[in-house]
Amino acid sequence: MSIPKNYRVLFMQGGASLQFSAVPLNLAKQHFRAGYFNTGYWSQKAMAEAKTYVDVVELANSAASGFKSFPQMLQPIDEQMDYIHCTPNETIGGVELYDWPDTFSIPLVADMSSTILSRPFDVSRFGVIYAGAQKNIGPAGLAIVIVREDLLAGSEVDADIPKLLNYQALANANSMLNTPPTFAIYLANLVFDWLIEQGGVSAIEKMNLLKASILYDAIEESTLVNNDIEPGLRSRMNVPFFFHDTDLQNDYLKQAEENGLLNLNGHRSAGGCRASIYNAMPLEGVEALVQNLKEFEKNHV
Ligand SMILES: *Cc1c(COP(=O)(O)O)cnc(C)c1O
Repeated sequence: MSIPKNYRVLFMQGGASLQFSAVPLNLAKQHFRAGYFNTGYWSQKAMAEAKTYVDVVELANSAASGFKSFPQMLQPIDEQMDYIHCTPNETIGGVELYDWPDTFSIPLVADMSSTILSRPFDVSRFGVIYAGAQKNIGPAGLAIVIVREDLLAGSEVDADIPKLLNYQALANANSMLNTPPTFAIYLANLVFDWLIEQGGVSAIEKMNLLKASILYDAIEESTLVNNDIEPGLRSRMNVPFFFHDTDLQNDYLKQAEENGLLNLNGHRSAGGCRASIYNAMPLEGVEALVQNLKEFEKNHV
């Protein structure tokens, strides 16, 4: 990931969701106020949890487009914010945002759960990057937190933070304040080795681009399904698609499952279908899905 030397990598528990609390607890020290980009399901979860600890300012949202386009600014960034939070890939909506407005000296915090290790990132743009492991890293429950060192400073003396959520205390103890989730970390290491064998992040990015493009092309060509996310923001990892004739969806999912294509139903909050094509999904898996979609269409038009 080309993580600069002035960052620490922490192994934590509680998945990405516990970071919704850990971030405000560790970073809100001065103003107890933070800006959030509301781009869909996961950013809303992060905002809801942060409200317990800080004054949450909704900086921007994409509600007008049904969370299918870049968020529109609702108010400007100001200096009274301890941090600004974004979600570069909205896993459920299938929206991926490739750039963020300048946050000046305010640390930008990113929930990268579903996009970490899928492509290179300029880590130096972020104060904190966190990710639940279960998409591109390893087993659920483990979270990886990449923190810029100057943001750690002093938080250990802060008695208000549960010790196991305290970034400084964890950094000091090399993430071993208590028994770490050893098996999850062991498996993550095997995945890191595998990723290096594939050629690393820049090589897997090429594969991910190829996988996503053949699937989006198939959706574009289809007369049965569509994806209405703004084309430049379509997620490479999570590809939702919706049947024009919703009655066909159940038939489709049933025969897909019979053909070994599993877990294609969309998230319960979104409906439709969704193919999550994380690093671990081989090209052959996406090709099989495209083939299957085409055959289904032949039999149903
Ligand atoms: C999966 C996911 C989460 C939740 O992760 P948990 O480890 O289950 O808490 C949070 N944010 C994003 C963007 C996700 O994709």
